Amino acid sequence: MKVISPSFIITMNRNYEILEGYSVLISGNRIQKIDRTEKLIPIAKENKWDIFDASGTILIPGFVQTHIHLCQTLFRGLADDLELLDWLQLKIMPFEYAHNKESMKYSALLGISELIRCGTTTILDMGSLNHSEVIFEQLINSGLRAFHGKAMMDINTLYPELSETTASALKSSEELAKEFHNSASGRVKYAFAPRFILSCSNELLKSTNELVNDFPGTLFHTHASENRTELENVRKRCGKDNIECFEELNILNDKSCIAHCIWLNENEIQLMKKRDARVLHCPSSNLKLASGIANIPRYLKEGISVSLGADGAPCNNFLDIFVEMRLASLIQKPFHGPTIMSAKEVFELATIGGARALHLEHEVGSIEEGKKADLVLIELNQLHNSVNIDKENLYSNIVYTCDHTNVKSVMIDGNWIYQNYQFMSIDVEEVIKKSQEELSKLLLRVK
Ligand SMILES: [Zn+2]
Repeated sequence: MKVISPSFIITMNRNYEILEGYSVLISGNRIQKIDRTEKLIPIAKENKWDIFDASGTILIPGFVQTHIHLCQTLFRGLADDLELLDWLQLKIMPFEYAHNKESMKYSALLGISELIRCGTTTILDMGSLNHSEVIFEQLINSGLRAFHGKAMMDINTLYPELSETTASALKSSEELAKEFHNSASGRVKYAFAPRFILSCSNELLKSTNELVNDFPGTLFHTHASENRTELENVRKRCGKDNIECFEELNILNDKSCIAHCIWLNENEIQLMKKRDARVLHCPSSNLKLASGIANIPRYLKEGISVSLGADGAPCNNFLDIFVEMRLASLIQKPFHGPTIMSAKEVFELATIGGARALHLEHEVGSIEEGKKADLVLIELNQLHNSVNIDKENLYSNIVYTCDHTNVKSVMIDGNWIYQNYQFMSIDVEEVIKKSQEELSKLLLRVK
């Protein structure tokens, strides 16, 4: 049993309560009780439970990032200043193809370490064609909560080597799901990942949707309407736009987790709403690849699920949720006015909103009794945010001024993964050294 006693708790419960002078009691991997500190501490002392005096810090739900590519972390800084299709064809796909098991291991571990240090406790991750088992191994060992799936591609005109037959894409994905879905006591799950329409036949898309139904709790994770050239090519092939194409194939539903959705037409917005599909918003990536700015306030007004993700390291170039929260808010203001996308609203997208997108809202995303103990302690102790802290401006401080230097400790599934600014089991220096070595070797393999 553990008791954490922070100064404030941002619960993100139904009433958006912010508690002052309360503690959280954790039993195993769950939050057993939230009660007044003066009441819980004597009981904890009597029972010799572990007490974590976190006064001066704010306890928040762990962040949920719904669109990540751990397989690309090693390629940070090697694919800058390009638009999407060139970025994929000239850089990312050749790099992904050059991965072996060791380079994939360190790409994943480097990304996982950065995510945890920034307070992210749950991710939805898309892999490459090969070596997904290595990513699963790292997810299981690291303690991060995650969905992962290999990228499915049975057409690839951009880089034909990085593709396989329809049957092979389906069979290998199904085998990975059988082996890894609900592993690590359910902490690690499978998400089928047809990369995007241009890399998938209609047969692959339809059969993948059937696989999602065969494995309860899995998701359908893809990209759509990210870039105008991509959209033109989709129109040439399908005679309609991305989301309309999914609808025609009868595969648009509440398991559809769709990254970007920048260029949706009115009919597609209504389809996303009607089918309860999810928008995975990646503001940094959308700006850096010059893709565009999704009309997120409109989607939210329609009641469409929106959550946040950093996308891959080479199109961001951080994996830091604080960067995404800040940008998600700021990029909308010139179009919609200063009150749009408030700090509180954006904080919601990065916590309980992300959990809802992944159908995990009964387990994570808020601090409530009975939920999994995925918790982050924020310390507002830096030059840029140590003055003027009170209950009224916590969301503002976190969304507009925090960065990873404010993340003091991270607990996932009841375990401290990062505590007092230190990883508990990841040797960061070793991860960086091995990542540099594996990248050098990988670059020699790139054709
Ligand atoms: Zn992506």
